[in-house]
Amino acid sequence: MQCFVGMLTVTDFINILHRYYKSPLVQIYELEEHKIETWREVYLNYSLHSLISIAPNSSLFDAVYSLIKNKIHRLPVIDPESGNVLSILTHKRILKFLHIFGSMIPKPRYLQKTVKELGIGTFKKIATVQENATVFEAISIFVETHVSALPVVNEEGKVVGLYSRFDVINLAAQKSYNNLDMPVKDSLHGRLHCLEGVLKCYPHETLEIIIDRIARAQVHRLVLVDENDFVRGIVSLSDLLQALVLTPAGVDALFS
Ligand code: AMP
Repeated sequence: MQCFVGMLTVTDFINILHRYYKSPLVQIYELEEHKIETWREVYLNYSLHSLISIAPNSSLFDAVYSLIKNKIHRLPVIDPESGNVLSILTHKRILKFLHIFGSMIPKPRYLQKTVKELGIGTFKKIATVQENATVFEAISIFVETHVSALPVVNEEGKVVGLYSRFDVINLAAQKSYNNLDMPVKDSLHGRLHCLEGVLKCYPHETLEIIIDRIARAQVHRLVLVDENDFVRGIVSLSDLLQALVLTPAGVDALFS
C-alpha cells in the first residue's frame, strides 16, 4: 500500500520565493536545485504537519468542516485500503454541487438579504495591494497573512484587479521568478491566461445574487465594493460554506 505524505501547493512556491529571493541580479538557485524532501525538512518540519485527508465514505459536511477548520484549500479523498488518492475536493467543487442541488429545494428566505445584513464575508482589515507595489511585496503579504487573494488598488484606492496566490504560479510558467521587483500591475498584464479577473459585488445585492455570480464564474471570491469602486469587503467561498453548511449545523464561524 502506498502512503501519501504531503501536498505541494502554490503556497509552498510562494514561501520558497519569499525565503530565497534577494534581487533581480541574484538567481534563486535553491528553487531549481532543492529537492522537495529538503524543502519539507527545512521549512515544513514535517513531523508536525501530517497530511489532512478524508475517506470516500465521509460526509460532505465533514469535508466542508475540514476545509474550513484547517484553513486549507484542497482536501485529498484517500481510499483507506489502497492509499490511492481518488479525488481532490475544493471549495469550488462543493459550492457547485450545492448550487445545483439547491435549485431543487425551496429557497430559504435569508437568500434575499444582503451579505452585510447576514454577516457573511470579511468587512474589516481587508488586505490589499497597490498596483505599483512589487510582486515581492504581494508575496510578503501572502506569507504574513492567510488570505488567498489581494484586491489590487490604484492610487485613488479604486479596485483595478485581483492578485491571487494562484497567479504567482505564472512566475514559474514564465520563468520570471527571478525578478520579483516587477510591479504587480505588469505581472497581472503578463499572465498567460486571464485567470480570475476581478469579480465584484455591491452592498445592496442579495446573497442569492452573490451565490449565483460566484458559482457561475467559478471563482473563489468576490470583492465587495461601494459605488466608487473602493474596497469594502471580501465574500469568499469559505464564508459561504461556513454560512450555508456549518452555521446552520451549529458550528460557529471558524474565521474571525
Ligand atoms: P479564503 O482564503 O479566500 O478562502 O478566505 C478565508 C477568509 O479570509 C474568509 O473569511 C475571507 O473573507 C477572508 N479573506 C479573503 N481574502 C481577504 C483579504 N484580502 N483581506 C482580508 N480578508 C480576506
